[in-house]
Amino acid sequence: MQPVSNRAVVHMDLDSFFVSVERKHNHRLAGVPLIIGGGSDRSVVASCSYEARRFGVSSAMPMKLARRLCPAAIVIAGDMERYTRESQEVTEVIRTQAPLFEKASIDEFYVDLSGLERFLGTWKWARELRQRVIRETALPISFALAANKMVAKVATGEAKPNGQKCISRGTEAAFLGPLPVERIPMAGPKTATLLSNMGVRRIATLREMPRQLLERVLGKMGGMLWQRAHGIDDTPIVPWSERKSISTETTFEQDTIDLYAMRATLVDMTGRVGFQMRKEHKLAATITVKIRYSDFNTITKQARIPYTGNDRQLSAKVLELFESAYNRRLLVRLLGVRLSHFIHGGHQISLLDDTESQIKLYSYIDKIKIKYGSDSIRPASAMGSIY
Ligand SMILES: [Mg+2]
Repeated sequence: MQPVSNRAVVHMDLDSFFVSVERKHNHRLAGVPLIIGGGSDRSVVASCSYEARRFGVSSAMPMKLARRLCPAAIVIAGDMERYTRESQEVTEVIRTQAPLFEKASIDEFYVDLSGLERFLGTWKWARELRQRVIRETALPISFALAANKMVAKVATGEAKPNGQKCISRGTEAAFLGPLPVERIPMAGPKTATLLSNMGVRRIATLREMPRQLLERVLGKMGGMLWQRAHGIDDTPIVPWSERKSISTETTFEQDTIDLYAMRATLVDMTGRVGFQMRKEHKLAATITVKIRYSDFNTITKQARIPYTGNDRQLSAKVLELFESAYNRRLLVRLLGVRLSHFIHGGHQISLLDDTESQIKLYSYIDKIKIKYGSDSIRPASAMGSIY
């Protein structure tokens, strides 16, 4: 079975991005095992250099274990503001060149070149874009060109570090076949173990399985895995946009000057937009607070923040903006919170934000919200009126 596609997709991924940024600013870190994580003792590894990976260190691993595996490693507390800035620089370079692109995460992009006629032309174009990113930002980046997002992403993984790869149309199956099944982006460790127990370790073997059997064992995902194993993926490129936002507003039943109630309302609203954002696998870099007074005078305060999906960080910023904006001490009619400047695929950054237990707590809270509705669980600080 041949994938039916006339698309041309470039996947670009900065090589161990956090590590590269640190090395760019401190050349003495070159060539040594380097681990980047949150500041606390219970943090997890957010990123590590290839030298550290050789000792078995990997991202999302508890920092304690990583230190034990590689005692010689230099450990650095990550600097999200710096990474956000560097990511924006790379985005700018791509934006000036690419007709249509998606920012899939802080260090990862898809460019749609489907309009360009000849595959060879797209290969040259992508190579030049990669060289431009390296020249203008001094950060190593790898890419692959293929007929769809999935094949391109897998191929970038094979091209790394500091490489480039082209999977010509029609050769997807030959390229994917020998790779282990966990290279398929949607196959997590649990799925890989399950497949391994069925004797399926390589993508070629997965391809030969009856689709119905996979669907019986893995549900809908089984069918999608089977398709991916055949190199089929028609997921569209979601254009990156500055304007997209998630917002909510609350109009008070009676105009109020009750600071406590207003703060509680803001924290509550922040929880709602934060939940919505995480559900869409986004992280925000801009936060806006809106205050409408009883005379309909409206002011907004906006701030850039390091990419985050963390409710506590968002709430803290929202309250800070509110305090700086609410200076007329007049009756307030309406409050609003808006998140914008999104990137997709929050996982990597959350690793830096949170400790292992916080990550678990957040995904647990969101699971409850998905199951029982977003009102089912709130931070105590959003429950002002009951105290
Ligand atoms: Mg990367």
